[in-house]
Amino acid sequence: MDITTSQNVLAQAEKLCEQRNVRLTPQRLEVLRLLTQQAGAISAYDLLDLLRASEPQAKPPTVYRALDFLLEQGFVHRVESTNSYVLCHLFDQPTHSSAMFICDRCGAVKEHGAQGVEDIMHQLAAQLGFALHHNVIEAHGLCSACAEVEACSHPEACGHDHTIQSKKKSR
Ligand SMILES: [Zn+2]
Ligand SMILES: [Zn+2]
Ligand SMILES: [Zn+2]
Repeated sequence: MDITTSQNVLAQAEKLCEQRNVRLTPQRLEVLRLLTQQAGAISAYDLLDLLRASEPQAKPPTVYRALDFLLEQGFVHRVESTNSYVLCHLFDQPTHSSAMFICDRCGAVKEHGAQGVEDIMHQLAAQLGFALHHNVIEAHGLCSACAEVEACSHPEACGHDHTIQSKKKSR
């Protein structure tokens, strides 16, 4: 995300917090700013390392408390299958449901509205008499750029970076 987009996101978050009468402390704002700098999802511990550049005293609970707040406000999502966090790209739709498309090669995460999928899950839950509270819709695979590299058949002369390998799922 470039600087202007990042600044727009932060300004929008500040405005929403003001409207909701909740406090976006400098620490919470900094964690959100760090998230806007990521191409994909990031773990809480990697975030902590980044946060320590401006707050050397920061401890894991510092990051988790800030993340809890940002999750509550809908500014970030937890990517459950990789235990990491990613900036929400649909800020202005507070109750949206989304699907996460996670690239196993470069780690990029794309968010897409998932209303139709959500509807199907509710129908299935109703058939089971199951009280559905929370859906996790996450898909693993390759982003378009990585799919191109993986399909490439002339690694000597193409200019791709063929040194990155897809992460093998441990499960
Ligand atoms: Zn979102
Ligand atoms: Zn990728
Ligand atoms: Zn290639």
